[in-house]
Amino acid sequence: MRIDIITIFPEMFDGPFTASIIKRAIEKKHVEINLHNLRDYSTDKHKKVDDYAFAGGAGMVMQIEPVDRCISALKAECQYDEVIYMSPDGLLLDQSLSNKISLKQNLILLCGHYKGIDERIREHLVSLEISIGNYVLSGGELAAAVLTDSIVRLIPGVLNDETSALSDSYQHGLVSPPTYTRPRSYKGWEVPEILLSGNEAKIEVWKLDQAMERTARRRPELYDKLKKK
Ligand code: SAH
Repeated sequence: MRIDIITIFPEMFDGPFTASIIKRAIEKKHVEINLHNLRDYSTDKHKKVDDYAFAGGAGMVMQIEPVDRCISALKAECQYDEVIYMSPDGLLLDQSLSNKISLKQNLILLCGHYKGIDERIREHLVSLEISIGNYVLSGGELAAAVLTDSIVRLIPGVLNDETSALSDSYQHGLVSPPTYTRPRSYKGWEVPEILLSGNEAKIEVWKLDQAMERTARRRPELYDKLKKK
């Protein structure tokens, strides 16, 4: 998979992409992530990429020309499955959307700033808009990093134990059952006896019960959907 991220703050990705699973996925060439500084595509002598909104209103708006120039330059060398704009009013990211996107080959992620971007970018240059939640961030970078993490960990071979992504919360419409590790007893707080029993069949039933019970309590809307299936 190849992910090209268009941003005015490439340094914001230093943290999320230089540690842990994403770092390893890049090293093992499961994913190639390229950061593109939008200012490099500005024709303005001060590398400006924003301007005042027509008809006033508070805040600056990202201009179409540098974005168009950047996307065109990328498209000249690669075929993209989607050009995704990170947007607070986009499609809400959930596990099933991450699963779908993880099957794609080449993606462009566009990070907005200020008051947002010129609407014509969304109309003519973007193929998909994704929100990571119903709240507003200062820029699209953190959202792009969240989206990238959620899809890269699904690429086969990225996680050591491939089944571990499949057994995560949401993959089967359920949240995960609780997990425990040593010591068996801590300050008198005990690990459930069943997990120490060695009876694999019973343990599987227990885990499923726990996952169902948790989903019903914490994500009732998911549980209702599951019951209707
Ligand atoms: N004025 C806009 C908000 C702009 S926030 C509005 O009211 O809708 C600035 C940028 O941050 C956006 O262009 C977008 O790229 C990013 N952003 C903010 N919140 C986001 C969210 N929940 N999910 C994805 N991207 C978000």
